[in-house]
Amino acid sequence: MEHLISGAAGFIGSHLCERLLADGHSVLGLDNLITGSRRNLAHLANHSRFRFMEHDVTQPLELAGRFDHVWHLASLASPKEYLGHPIETLESGSTGTRNMLEIARRDGARFLVTSTSECYGDPLEHPQVETYWGNVNPVGMRSCYDESKRYAEAMTMAYHRYYGVRSNIARIFNTYGPRMALKDGRVVPAFLDQALQGQPLTIFGDGTQTRSFCYVSDMVDGLVRLASSDERMPVNLGNPAELTILEFAERIRGLMNEKLPIVFEPLPDDDPKKRRPDITKARRLLGWEPKVNLEDGLRETVKYFKALAPA
Ligand code: NAD
Ligand code: UDP
Repeated sequence: MEHLISGAAGFIGSHLCERLLADGHSVLGLDNLITGSRRNLAHLANHSRFRFMEHDVTQPLELAGRFDHVWHLASLASPKEYLGHPIETLESGSTGTRNMLEIARRDGARFLVTSTSECYGDPLEHPQVETYWGNVNPVGMRSCYDESKRYAEAMTMAYHRYYGVRSNIARIFNTYGPRMALKDGRVVPAFLDQALQGQPLTIFGDGTQTRSFCYVSDMVDGLVRLASSDERMPVNLGNPAELTILEFAERIRGLMNEKLPIVFEPLPDDDPKKRRPDITKARRLLGWEPKVNLEDGLRETVKYFKALAPA
C-alpha cells in the first residue's frame, strides 16, 4: 500500500515511517522541519520504498500518484513549541488538516489524524473517556493547540459525514521515546537532559499534577491498529499508569542519579492538573494496550540521548 505521512521527520512520525516500511508498504513523508529533523529519517534515506519531501502542509500540494492511506501528524506538539508558534499551530490543525483530507478524498484513501488529550483541556472528569467533551479555555495560552486539534477533529468528521472519507481520530496522551527533540521542553526530554548534565530537575508548580507516559512503540502499534479499524469516532491511545510529576522526578532520580536536586518553578497557565486515559475503547475495539513499562522505556530513551551527537 502507498502511505502519505505528514510530520514524518518528527518523533512519532519517524517511528511510524519505520513501522510501515517494515510491514512492506511504500511511504512518502512530508515535513517542513519546523521541529522535526532529517536526522530522524537518515537511516531510511536509501530505503527503496521510502521518499521524503520538504513541504509545509498548510500550502497547496499537487502530488502525482495515488495514496491508499493518508496520515496527518504534522503539528507543533510540545507546549514550548506551540506557545512559540501559535499561528503556525492553528494553521497546521486547520488548513493543514483540510489539505491532507482533500488528498484522502481525491484518492479514496483512508485518513488518520493525530489528535490529543488536550482536547479534554483541564479535565473535570477523571480518567478521560472519549465521550467527555472537555474543559478547554478557548482563549487561553494553550488554546492555539487545543482548538487547532478540536477543529481538526471536527473537519475530519465533516469529511467523513459529507464525503464518506474513511477516517480515524487518535487522541494521543503523553508519549515519549527515542527521537524526541532533547530541547523541546516536554517533561521527559527536559528531565533526562537535566539528569545527563547533573542539573537540578525543574518541576513546574508543586508537582502534584498527574500524567501517564506511553512508550513510542506502543503508540505506533495503537495507531496502526486504529488505522485499519472501522471506528470513526475518537479513540484514546495512551498509557493508563498515572503518576504525579513529583513521582516522575523520583523515578528519574532512581534511574539516573539519586542525588539530583529538584527545583520548583511557576506552573504554566492552564497546565492540566490531572490526566489519565480511559483506554477501555482501545482495548475492546483494537485489542490494544501498552506493553512497555516506564523504566524500560526510559532506559531506551536515555540510551538514545547519550548516543546523540551534537546537531
Ligand atoms: P514532533 O514535533 O516531533 O513532530 C511533529 C512534526 O510535524 C515535526 O517534524 C514538524 O516539523 C512537523 N510539522 C509541524 N508543522 C508542519 C507543517 N505545517 N507542515 C509540515 N510539517 C509540519 O511531535 P510528535 O510528538 O511526534 O507529535 C506528532 C503528532 O502527535 C502531532 O500531531 C501531535 O500533536 C500529536 N501528539 C503527540 C503527543 C506526544 O506526547 N508526543 C501527544 C498528543 C498528540
Ligand atoms: N513539566 C515540569 N517540568 C518541565 C517540563 C514540564 O514540571 O521541565 C510539567 C508540565 O508543567 C506538565 C507536565 O510536566 O504538568 C507534562 O508537561 P509536558 O510539557 O511534557 O506535556 P503536557 O502534558 O503539558 O502537554
